[in-house]
Parts: sequence; C-alpha cells; structure tokens
Amino acid sequence: MSQTQRLRDLPAVNEVLQHVTVDNLRQAHSHARVTEWTRSSIQSCRESVLAGKVASEQSLLDWVIHDIVARKEREVGRSLQSVINATGVVLHTNLGRSPLADRALERIQMASRYTNVELDLETGRRSKRGEHVMRLLTQLTGAEAALVVNNCAAATVLVLQATAAGREVIVSRGQLVEIGGGFRLPEVFQSSGVRLREVGTTNRTYLRDYEAAINDQTGAIIRVHRSNFHLSGFVTEPSIDEMALIERPEDVIVIDDLGSGCINELSEFGLHEPTVLESVRSGADVTLFSGDKLFGGPQAGILVGKARWIEQLSRHPLMRAVRVDKMTLAAMEATTELHLEGRAFAEIPTLKRIASSADVIEQRGRALREMLVQGERLHVVECESQVGGGSIPGSCLPSFGLQIQVTQPDRLAAELRRADTPIHGRVTDDALLLDFRTVADEELPAMAAALNAILPGFAWVVTP
Ligand SMILES: *Cc1c(COP(=O)(O)O)cnc(C)c1O
Repeated sequence: MSQTQRLRDLPAVNEVLQHVTVDNLRQAHSHARVTEWTRSSIQSCRESVLAGKVASEQSLLDWVIHDIVARKEREVGRSLQSVINATGVVLHTNLGRSPLADRALERIQMASRYTNVELDLETGRRSKRGEHVMRLLTQLTGAEAALVVNNCAAATVLVLQATAAGREVIVSRGQLVEIGGGFRLPEVFQSSGVRLREVGTTNRTYLRDYEAAINDQTGAIIRVHRSNFHLSGFVTEPSIDEMALIERPEDVIVIDDLGSGCINELSEFGLHEPTVLESVRSGADVTLFSGDKLFGGPQAGILVGKARWIEQLSRHPLMRAVRVDKMTLAAMEATTELHLEGRAFAEIPTLKRIASSADVIEQRGRALREMLVQGERLHVVECESQVGGGSIPGSCLPSFGLQIQVTQPDRLAAELRRADTPIHGRVTDDALLLDFRTVADEELPAMAAALNAILPGFAWVVTP
C-alpha cells in the first residue's frame, strides 16, 4: 500500500475523542487540553507514516491513542520537581542556581501567610517594604543604603533608567558581555533608554579613555564584571577604585555590576572573585549583584551604595515593576542573617558545597557505591567540579565522582533524568559521571534506588 493510501486511514479528531481511552482522559483534563493532545498525536502519526515508521499492519487509531497517552504522561509529569544535581556544577542555571538554606525555607513558609511586609507593628501604619532586609544588607556590606529587586538584570535596567535615561553610558569594549540565555548586557542597557558610549578596545581600556569620553551627555560610567569568561594576556583596565575617582559632574554615577556578588573571600579554595565589600569600599556609587549566585539566596538583584542614589532609585516608577515578592524578602532576610552571623559556610548550601573538602566528597561517593547491587563494577574517581552559573569562569574544584561505563551513557543519563527523583549527571569520556560535590548525603538512598532499578538494563563497557 502506498503511503498516500495509508494516510486515508488516519482517524479524524472526533473519532479519536470518542474512543473510550480518550473519553476517560476528559474526566480529569479539560476538553481543550485533550483536543490539543489529539490533534498533535494525529499530526505525529501522519509524519511517522510518511517517514515509513509505522508498520503496515498496525492500526493508526491504536497508534494515535497510544501516542496521546504517552503525551499526557510527559506533559503532566513536566511540573517543577526536585532534581538531584550530580553535575558538580554548584550554581547550575538549568537547575535553578542556588539551593536555599533551611532557615530561608522556614522563613518563606512563614511569609507565605499574612505578614507584616508593609505594616509597622508598633504604630499600625504602613511601612516601607523590605526595610528590615535593607538594614541587614547595609550592615553586611558597609554601604549607606540598599535595595532589592527581582534579579540583577532588573537592577541594571533600574539604575540606568533612573539615573541616565536619554543620556550616555560609558562602558569598556572589553566588558560587553552576554550573560547566558542569549541575553547581551549592552542590549539590556539600551532597553533602559540609554545610549552606549563604548571606549577602549577588547583587551585594553585606560582610565584616560573613560575621562576623554565624558561630556555634557554623560549619565553614567559602568564597570561590568566578566563573570563567565576570562581575558588574559596583553590586557589592561582600570580598577573600580580608580574609576570611582574619575572627575565628573555630580549627576554622573559610577556603577559596578559585579554579577556574582561574592560576600566571602574564596581564595582559600583557589577561587578569585572580587567581593562586594571591596566594591563598596572602592567608592563606586552603586554596586549590583545577584541574590542567587555566590550570595546563596533567592533570585534577586541587590543594589548597595550611596544613600543619595539608592533613594533616587527607590522613588522611580520602574521600582514598582521590579519589586520583589514577600517570600523573596523572607529568604533574603534569612540568608543575609546567616552571612552576618558568620554561618554562611556552615548553612548556606552554595557556600557549603564550594567549601566541601575532596575527602568528604570521596566518602559520599564510596557510601553510594556500597548501596549499589553492582557496586564492585564501579569506580569512585577523581574529577573536577565548577562553580558555574555565570561566576568564576574556569574555576576548578577538586572532586570525586562515580564513573559508570556503560555502552550507552547518553541513554543512561536520560533514564536517570526520568527517575522518581530525577538525577542529572554528566557524560564525559563515553561514561556517565555522577559528581558528589553537589549531592547531599540525604539524597544517596534515592540515587541508589534509581541506579539499582535502571542499571540492569545496560551493558557494561568491557575494558580489554
Ligand atoms: C549574572 C549576571 C547578571 C544577571 O544577573 P541575573 O540575576 O541573572 O539577572 C548581570 N551582570 C553580570 C555581570 C552577571 O554576572
């Protein structure tokens, strides 16, 4: 039978909707949803027939019904769920960057009910949203004032729009970065209604380049931290300390976009990242950073700096569009407290993972191996973890992982992602590697259960 003749057997939408299996789906799902699955499955069936992928004796109605059920399973199971991060990338953008500290989770739960987010309990009057966390942030960073918005990109747009709209922003050509997801900072800047005034070259920008670019159109000078790539070799650019001292009219702001927002010195772990404290001390007017990178808190953009500028930002209409939710404020508050109490490395998961020693990680790997039926076939090997998430490019932290050498590591990775608690590892050197730096001890039993169920379906690579 020709494919065109075969296509005449494709069932019509109404016929499929009346089928008992599909009719049952309509008990739990809306008509519109079931109809959409039906149309998509009929379309897939058409494509499969044309590609010669449907056996000639198979009923197309059965094919479509089967596909609808599979489609429903995929879609209904696609909600947000906890994933075990076995990639070794501490701040994994696809896995939501920073996991939160227990104290932040408790505070979110509290805040999700009615809270005094804008109520002064002493006077019974309206208070300023986020007042408490702003105070904690100034105590932590030594800045005069602070502000929290939805993310660092929003902080950038707010500060530029509120201080330099319609005017020029001076930026070095070596700092025109793309921050992931295809977003380019220069374009984000321009969306706030400023004109870019690029200075210097990709590798070398001097203080005098900034100075020479200042004119009556200048609104801001911005330094963008290169969070996700390295520039090395014949390279120079002024420090933020030097930039803060550039002679300028008093309505020209100097902004430091730090991105990752490192509060704690990380050099003992071999990581070198400018800290928020250094930036504030340099005299930059406003310093911006993300709440969910090295700060280890919820998604947020934090602005700290001179009171005069922060007040100007807090009164700008855009502030209302980028203000954070009460649950974000609650999590920020708890995370900032942990930093202030010196408990960051003990209780903030992101920092705990960065600070984990290779010994502890190796122990964790061995503990999992013990729980596996086929454990003796597997090796706990040395590997390297990364900080990731647009911070500390090229960072390498010595770690340990379980190397699983099966003939189809990509299929194994896919099956682990479909486990009851999905596990996300990485495939390298034709093996699946599960890096234990980013795994918590409590997650080991779920990992073992998934591996014990899935591994028997795979063939081992035989090493001669
Ligand atoms: C990550 C980053 C941003 C964007 O921060 P989000 O919180 O993701 O919006 C902006 N600037 C720099 C330098 C960054 O590293």
